[in-house]
Order: sequence, then C-alpha cells, then structure tokens
Amino acid sequence: MIKRILLLLGVVILLGFAIPEPRVIPVEHATSADWNSNTFWYEPWGTSGVHKGIDIFAKQGTTVQSASHQLILYQGQWSKGGNVVLALGPKWRLHYYAHLASIDTDGRYFVASGSKIGTVGATGNAQGKPPHLHYSIVSLVPYFWLIDATSQGYKKAFYLNPISYLTDNNS
Ligand SMILES: [Zn+2]
Repeated sequence: MIKRILLLLGVVILLGFAIPEPRVIPVEHATSADWNSNTFWYEPWGTSGVHKGIDIFAKQGTTVQSASHQLILYQGQWSKGGNVVLALGPKWRLHYYAHLASIDTDGRYFVASGSKIGTVGATGNAQGKPPHLHYSIVSLVPYFWLIDATSQGYKKAFYLNPISYLTDNNS
C-alpha cells in the first residue's frame, strides 16, 4: 500500500516536470531594458534584507500576463504585496505577481502562458513608487546547488532568479 502511494506520488511529481513551459515576460511588451540587471538579490532591501524577485517597470495599467501555464492558487490583498496573484506553474514552481493595480483573472483557475491576469500598479509597499510588477519564482523542489555565500544565500535553493528563468529556457 505504502509502495503504491509512493509510486503514485512519484508519478505526480514527475508529471509536474513534464508539463510544457512556454515562458513569457509577465508584463506585456516588456524587455530586459525594463528591469535592472542587479535587481535580483539586491541589498539592502527593507525588512526582507535582500530582494528575492525582480521589479519590471511599466506604465500604470499595462497588462500583467501569466509567465507560463499556471494554476492560480490565490488572488487578493497582502500588506506588502498589495494586490497579488500566486500561481503554480510547471516543475512545481510558484509564481508571485505583486503591486497590481487590478486583478483580472476573471475567476479562472487555469491560465495559459501569456494570459492576462492583472495590470501593473503600485499597491502595497510600492505605494508612492513608480508602478512596477514585482515578480518572484519559488521552487517547491529545492535546488541545493544554487546556494551561494551571499546574504540569505541558502534561500536561493528555493527563490529562483526570474531573469535567468525568462532569458534561459534551460534554467
Ligand atoms: Zn520587488
């Protein structure tokens, strides 16, 4: 019985890795010119210590789109993030979209890569700052070899670099 459950669990985990993962920059028409190349793990960064995602700058109201095929787990308001969407993508990666002006998931649970899920804003602790999307990727499967000697570097086993994710399809 336990063997069967473990086998099933293994199959489910492997399936997560088999889902195709076409990737798009989660802000419509954005390019690498719209973020600072040092934005990931930038420090000092307020109460978080280091910046565990990237900020993609765009005009208020620009479309925020799903970075890959994703299952939406949460949408609502968080104090730091403002209007946020949290979604699960292929390879057991959580994608976090924050400071949205509006959430536009239309009640869908599954969104295809590139689907509109909201708009760029400056909600939460981005209030008073230029509108931008804060985008983080958290792997539920630890990548221990990504740990390094930077501040909180052990967390890099979980927080993936969105710039590598968006620019290198093998990452
Ligand atoms: Zn940010």
